Amino acid sequence: MAQHQDHAYAGFEPTKPSTTESGAQRASDANSLSVGPNGPLLLHDVALVEKLARFDRERVPERSPHAKGSGAFGEFVVTHDVSQHTKAAFLQPGTTTPMLARFSTVAGELGSPDTWRDVRGFSLKFYTSEGNFDMVGNNTPVFFVRDPMKFPDFIHSQKRLPDSGLRSNNMQWDFWTLSPESAHQVSYLMGDRGLPASWRHMNGYSSHTYLWVNEAGEKSWVKYHFLTDQGVENMSNEEAGKLAGEDADYHRRDLFDAIEGGDFPSWTLKVQVMPYEDAKTYRVNPFDLTKVWSHRDYPLIEVGRFTLNQNPSNHFAQIEQAAFSPANTVPGTGVSPDKMLLGRVFSYPDAQRNRVGVNYQQLPVNAPLVPTNSYDKEGHMQFHHTGNAPVYAPNSYGRAYQDAQGPVDNGWEADGELVRAAYTLHPEDDDFGQAHALVREVFSEEERERLVETVAGTLIPAVEEPVLSNVFTYWRNIDAEVGDRIEKAYRAAIGDQVPGGDPQDGQPSATLDEQRTNAGR
Ligand code: NDP
Repeated sequence: MAQHQDHAYAGFEPTKPSTTESGAQRASDANSLSVGPNGPLLLHDVALVEKLARFDRERVPERSPHAKGSGAFGEFVVTHDVSQHTKAAFLQPGTTTPMLARFSTVAGELGSPDTWRDVRGFSLKFYTSEGNFDMVGNNTPVFFVRDPMKFPDFIHSQKRLPDSGLRSNNMQWDFWTLSPESAHQVSYLMGDRGLPASWRHMNGYSSHTYLWVNEAGEKSWVKYHFLTDQGVENMSNEEAGKLAGEDADYHRRDLFDAIEGGDFPSWTLKVQVMPYEDAKTYRVNPFDLTKVWSHRDYPLIEVGRFTLNQNPSNHFAQIEQAAFSPANTVPGTGVSPDKMLLGRVFSYPDAQRNRVGVNYQQLPVNAPLVPTNSYDKEGHMQFHHTGNAPVYAPNSYGRAYQDAQGPVDNGWEADGELVRAAYTLHPEDDDFGQAHALVREVFSEEERERLVETVAGTLIPAVEEPVLSNVFTYWRNIDAEVGDRIEKAYRAAIGDQVPGGDPQDGQPSATLDEQRTNAGR
């Protein structure tokens, strides 16, 4: 038997000797069965065949957005009393709830650098006494689009060109400038917070508006803010570019090493609470995901703090297979008429069914701590089952089922004819006003200058007409002076080069029309 050192493994007792997956002792982990030392290999070497076949299937499909990420376990403690707003058990004063966090980039694939400029995913799973509550947010309080119909197009535009397989600033800007509702999020992304120094140094936001219900059945609208206790810190374009080459896993490493070294990061949960009736008359549509609620209108109310104190012991089992969904709500919480949120409530669980399998919620990292009694059954990899209990409801044999009728306590009123239309406008709804406030009132002059450099840099030399002119117009709509400065910085940098040259080979890239023709070839 080969010698090896005794070692303590988290969650795993090493067996001696090694076995096949059916438990039979393996003869060798190094030598295949062959006809003589130099002869051909044999199909009935089940240990080899199993090892290769199993290896061929090690990867599950990567997430379409948010593929590259990592996370850790921790606990959430409620430090303040918000029981006048919600009856959710895990939000009651003094309650401690185990949880999992996963941070990610959006557009990059599994092996892509952590420090490419991008929005960062900020997903939380709270294993509450009433079932799992998930908060699937970002490090920005808003989003690029407000209707789920546009979401796949948005992601396509951030991923890769159909012919060359290259990422394309031209494609990104084309989508953004033709979707002016993106202006607020794009301003945020091109600002300093588009390059967080680490996941520990960024805030998380629900971005969406959600519903809270208290014991008396009174409802309010709520936005969640998870503010980093480490302080917001960002990195420069130069630093990010260098790290992308030197350490593609920089953010993953930072989080793992911090927790391993006992430096546990934490975030304070604060909420904005809007009385239910205010939604009808608030100056912007409170369900529009491209808008924030001004802190002046709805000040932050402190709720509690979560701390990450335990690294995964197996990245694949506990992070790659972790499945978050805004559909996971608990009593006292609910979703809202935010159309993007309503789309995600379907799409997230559906993506996990496709990616991990229909029984993904039975995996330890996804399973609630409370027992389940679901009539959904069977499918690939069923592990938990209900024995010989009735498989249908209603039944006469004692398996519980419910048959409530009437209004639900976490619902809202809606009626009207069926339409395909943008939200009804509130008095101050437009696509550029809040983006302007961010760029002009929140950013310092130094940050505005860095924004001008960053945006101009994304245009050189890859962006071509008509997208280029649209970019200048888009930025002038956000802020006339910043738009002028972006165009000036671009013109100064490009000199007499032809706009739209391919950064890879110095040649002009195909026009989008050509790209479309090529894609249809
Ligand atoms: P406030 O002045 O009260 O809020 C501004 C907020 O902007 C800050 O509290 C901070 O939020 C955030 N912030 C500070 N520096 C930066 C930066 N460099 N990049 C991005 N965000 C930054 O005014 P309002 O609430 O009326 O909001 C004004 C604008 O601020 C909005 O249009 C929006 O773009 C932005 N903003 C607003 C948030 C909100 O929920 N109201 C949240 C984040 C940004 P934080 O403490 O969350 O970091």
